[in-house]
Amino acid sequence: MPELWQMDDLFTMLKELTELPGASGAEKPVRDYIAKALAGHVDSLEVDNLGNLIAFKKGSGKSRRKVALFAHMDEVGLTVTGADEEGYLKIDSLGGVDPHVLLAKRVKVGDDITGIIGYKPIHLQEPKEREKRVKLSELRVDIGAKDKDEALSKAPLGTPIHFDSETHFLGTSADSPEDGRLPASGRLIGKAFDDRIGCMAMIAVLKGLELPYDLHAVFTILEEEGLRGAKPAAWEVEPDIAVILESTVADDLPREEDLSPSTRLGAGPAITIMDRRTITDPKLAAYFVGVAEAEGIPIQVKQPGVGGTDARVVQVSRRGARVGILAVPSRYIHSPSSVIELSDFVNMLKLLEKALPDMPNALE
Ligand SMILES: [Zn+2]
Repeated sequence: MPELWQMDDLFTMLKELTELPGASGAEKPVRDYIAKALAGHVDSLEVDNLGNLIAFKKGSGKSRRKVALFAHMDEVGLTVTGADEEGYLKIDSLGGVDPHVLLAKRVKVGDDITGIIGYKPIHLQEPKEREKRVKLSELRVDIGAKDKDEALSKAPLGTPIHFDSETHFLGTSADSPEDGRLPASGRLIGKAFDDRIGCMAMIAVLKGLELPYDLHAVFTILEEEGLRGAKPAAWEVEPDIAVILESTVADDLPREEDLSPSTRLGAGPAITIMDRRTITDPKLAAYFVGVAEAEGIPIQVKQPGVGGTDARVVQVSRRGARVGILAVPSRYIHSPSSVIELSDFVNMLKLLEKALPDMPNALE
């Protein structure tokens, strides 16, 4: 058996998954894609009332504890809240978006309308305007409509808007590897690595790993809008042990003062001990670190106190679950152009392949 990260088409799927639109509340294209990818590889696949996709795969044996993996399908984006008389769309954010990353960016409105987030050209800005922070309420999306009616007929209230970004290698002219497989290293630029990278890792585990216990894999909705999908899904699945697969902030940019980074690109998947919302299970975190060290897989501990994930609600659902979080660091996260290092993803897959089979036993 080849290693998990060498599975056919992993790169192709990652590119396709990250390019799909799936702003919070509009995850259907992503859900449909994942359901198709998993057909024939799992024992059951269901969509709950909210739109979470829950996969179940029988193991070769049983574990005393119920085990689940979680990753979220949604990405940050925008939504249409109105239009002004001149035909420009007013917007609000879905998830946490800094208005400064939006200026002059191309977007897709609804299914396939191209738009641009407009901003006053520098020639027209007063000197004071050049220094102030831009507010989301000042921004408009231009879809070329001539007036309010045309704008709202093309993009009715509540139409989701997402970044129009292709996934490419950074720092080379290469597009995709010819064989569609994941290279062992290299930097990728694109949108929505948060958290299609976690979805991709779960797809690889479900397709490529035979585990000695039954596995539930939950692809959640609305993580970026208050962790809303994971709550009912965790109630339904009722895991004893849950691992959340994520993408997290890489804060390794040059800066004036030397502050400790949250995570660094290329230093391996990041394990969370504590973030703003969760203190993870110490034994589970120690288990992952121990396996990584024993197998020579790089791993980094995320700077405590930054960010939050579905782990927050999974941990406190029903009788509670022992949670762990593994994440691929992403620079410029929650923007149209995030950057990841593929070796971090490869090492996450290596770690999952080595650590998952014995995980429930290690926690006894
Ligand atoms: Zn995320």
